[in-house]
Amino acid sequence: MHETSRSGTTLGQVLKSDLPYMNRSENMRAVRGKDTKPEKTVRSMLHKVGYRFRLHRRDLPGKPDLTFPSLRKVIFVHGCFWHSHDCRKGQGEPSTNPQFWKRKRELTIQRDRRALEALAAQGWDAYVVWECALKNQDAVRNQLEDFLSRQLSMVRRQSRPGIVTGG
Ligand SMILES: [Zn+2]
Repeated sequence: MHETSRSGTTLGQVLKSDLPYMNRSENMRAVRGKDTKPEKTVRSMLHKVGYRFRLHRRDLPGKPDLTFPSLRKVIFVHGCFWHSHDCRKGQGEPSTNPQFWKRKRELTIQRDRRALEALAAQGWDAYVVWECALKNQDAVRNQLEDFLSRQLSMVRRQSRPGIVTGG
């Protein structure tokens, strides 16, 4: 099956047209996938309770928004629309260029899934914060503190380079 990109809409063209749900500058940040407002909210809430973390580590699958190397945990902060959350905003259909958005969001879902699988395979514990959950910041903070303080339930991986241990 050959999939043609209908009418050849580029992201640039879409950005100049009507944008679903976001104003232009919000949308540009979301396209870049960095430093969005929800992400800043999460960073600042964890910083206040004393956590330190790295941002957008390129060497990890999916470039997690926050990485806690010593805990071997990562946090993603996902915008509901872009990552197709199971909520009203996440399931909304833009009126302009619906095919373009549909395809783009499907690719995002696949990329997210691959990243989470790859992280798990490397022994990283991951947590996704959805944008809409941040309406209740206290709840999110509690969940994140639980996540960051809990022990890995998996068998601990002791990787020693060059030494292969039998399973
Ligand atoms: Zn949502």
